[in-house]
Amino acid sequence: TTAALSGAGLAREIRAGVTRTAAELTEAGTPPRLAVVVATDDESTAWYVRSIANAAARTGIRCDVVDLGAEATPERIRGELAELSADASVHGIMLQTPLPSGATVEDLAASIAPEKDVDGANPVSLGRLSAGLPAFVPATAAAVLELLDHHGIALSGRRAVVVGRSNVVGKPVAQLLLRRDATVTVCHRYTQDLAAHTHPADVLVVAVGRIGLIGAEHVGPGAVVIDVGTNPTADGGLVGDVDEIEVTGLAAGLTPVPGGVGPVTTALLLRHTVESAWRSSA
Ligand code: NAD
Repeated sequence: TTAALSGAGLAREIRAGVTRTAAELTEAGTPPRLAVVVATDDESTAWYVRSIANAAARTGIRCDVVDLGAEATPERIRGELAELSADASVHGIMLQTPLPSGATVEDLAASIAPEKDVDGANPVSLGRLSAGLPAFVPATAAAVLELLDHHGIALSGRRAVVVGRSNVVGKPVAQLLLRRDATVTVCHRYTQDLAAHTHPADVLVVAVGRIGLIGAEHVGPGAVVIDVGTNPTADGGLVGDVDEIEVTGLAAGLTPVPGGVGPVTTALLLRHTVESAWRSSA
């Protein structure tokens, strides 16, 4: 049987810790504050940002959504990030994708102060992660590792395969798995015979954004599968990249979508924000 590796309980635990710390910080005169910069009219982005704002409100973190509009220029976005970086009352800054054409996260996130870079998007944060130095790790990548630990999945010496190599998910997940002594393979758009690479995996992490990419032929018996993909469906729902029906009975465990990586990601963004506030108050 395939265990559902839910993220709901873990997210609740993380939020409970954040709520306690946020209350202490507020009492001590440093109310934690997160700013989310948005420059798109994309509907699913708006939905995701609302879920962050709601979770922040429930844990006692002030969350400002700074909507610059889909026409914002890179200069305007950079200026906003620099201003928030200089504002001592702001502890966490996140730049939401997608961005207007011509703007890239890699370029703009360099304007987020590394100590407030709670989604690990600044190239300095990503470089420090690769070098094994302390830094904020992209929340989604951190969520994958937290979920594996929460469900007691061993990593040292095991075969881990990551599908997707973006700077927000695939690459940082690969770095974190390496840090935990897994033997890591990274697959991407140009990988030939994907199944030949993914089938031997003990731990398979999929972060692509394509419904049904991973089926029975991609998964070996007893594998643990973490589905990071979030694909909107016609009826307003959300599905992952893994074909749940094909993989059930084959994998030892599979994260549900929604309710797997997503809620843990949001909870970790909040945890990073109180960590930043804590350091700023020390
Ligand atoms: P991206 O588009 O930046 O990267 C996709 C990656 O998939 C690329 O590296 C590409 O090479 C690879 N790829 C594309 N087609 C492939 C194929 N046929 N075979 C193998 N690899 C292929 O996407 P992203 O930002 O990394 O996000 C990936 C998915 O994760 C999306 O569905 C996104 O919505 C989701 N996501 C979820 C969360 C969460 O908290 N749950 C957070 C971030 C992203």
